[in-house]
Amino acid sequence: MGEAGVGVVPPAGALPPTSALPTTGAGPLALWPARATIDLDAISNNVRALRERVGGAELMAVVKADAYGHGLVPSARAALAGGACALGVAQPSEALALRAAGVDAPVLTWLVAPGTDLVPLVEAGVEVAASAPWALEALADAAVATGRPAVTQLKVDTGLGRNGAFCLPVSTDPRTDWSDLVDLAARLESDGAVRTRGVFTHFAYADAPTHATVQGQQDVFADAVRLAEKAGLDLEVRHMSNSAATLTSRSATWDMVRPGLAVFGLSPVPDLGASADYGLRPAMRVTARAALAKRVPAGQGISYGHTYLTPGATTVVDVPLGYADGVPRHASGAGPVQIHGRRFTVAGRVCMDQFLVDVGDLHVEAGDEVVLFGAGDDGEPTAQDWADAAGTISYEIVTRFGPRVPRVYVGGQR
Ligand SMILES: *Cc1c(COP(=O)(O)O)cnc(C)c1O
Repeated sequence: MGEAGVGVVPPAGALPPTSALPTTGAGPLALWPARATIDLDAISNNVRALRERVGGAELMAVVKADAYGHGLVPSARAALAGGACALGVAQPSEALALRAAGVDAPVLTWLVAPGTDLVPLVEAGVEVAASAPWALEALADAAVATGRPAVTQLKVDTGLGRNGAFCLPVSTDPRTDWSDLVDLAARLESDGAVRTRGVFTHFAYADAPTHATVQGQQDVFADAVRLAEKAGLDLEVRHMSNSAATLTSRSATWDMVRPGLAVFGLSPVPDLGASADYGLRPAMRVTARAALAKRVPAGQGISYGHTYLTPGATTVVDVPLGYADGVPRHASGAGPVQIHGRRFTVAGRVCMDQFLVDVGDLHVEAGDEVVLFGAGDDGEPTAQDWADAAGTISYEIVTRFGPRVPRVYVGGQR
């Protein structure tokens, strides 16, 4: 079936653009029982703290996946206000969404599959990463179609074994996919079709800074940069470091760092240090209004499968957030919440739209605030606590919140 016959539904949620939602009062927000409050000043300050850490090197803020769930455009603007000089996204549609919102900072998109229409990207001045010759050829075609040169950054695989043209230490093998890619890039640049502005790579073990691959990948990257320059490419930016490397491997800084998670104030290395240890502040706070609070007798099974039995007569609180909203089902019986300043744990299974909490004899009423996580200042759980409870990483906790959880922005210049 041809694409023309396929109805295209944009992946917008059921909500109006969150930027259109008021931050206080009734209005549209009153329709949703939960919200994620995003502290834009925290994002700006985190960028500032990260830049200080790398001696003022340039910083590309990674805002893929709706800015790790924090909202693409407001988060991008907050990162730029904090001193980011560029934005990085995975998918082309994310780059175009930034441009459509009027964000004109340099944007790099690095996950482009064959068949992607590169014309609107080149027209919008979006840099498209190339990991293979076909991507450079497609960029050259788009340059012809638009009448303006395409701009790329070449992705080299120095050992992650994921995206990027494979490169080995020159002493092992000087002719690799990478050397073919840089030769083609140099040819297309001299034709005036594709400008190669930078080269970059990504670590496999940045969260284990003493792992041998962390130095090994830096050595291969140095060889890859030399090969690119020898081929005639005049590189403006060379970058390796994600959040973990930005925080723990200074030697990997080169011209620019490329953090995502740390921009949003979460630690990518919770075993080595918490957010505050790195001068970072979590930017997302998720809260809900209790949908119901009721007394139940001892021995009552709670939620599907009755995996939790009330130990005595108690008050059970129904929280209107479930796995469809991003609360991991793996956090059944384990996820932490705070109600009236006290910590409780999810009782029984997380359902699609709701979960339960046994608050004992604490006086709780429907409508009272339930805090899932926040910055942790007031004893509330953090996204890291939820990650620990669900056996995952904080990245997954914040990126999963869906369209039924409106993002509300505080701070920043709005
Ligand atoms: C996601 C991503 C980053 C950011 O990673 P964090 O660990 O969130 O800092 C940087 N570079 C690439 C290529 C990525 O895919």
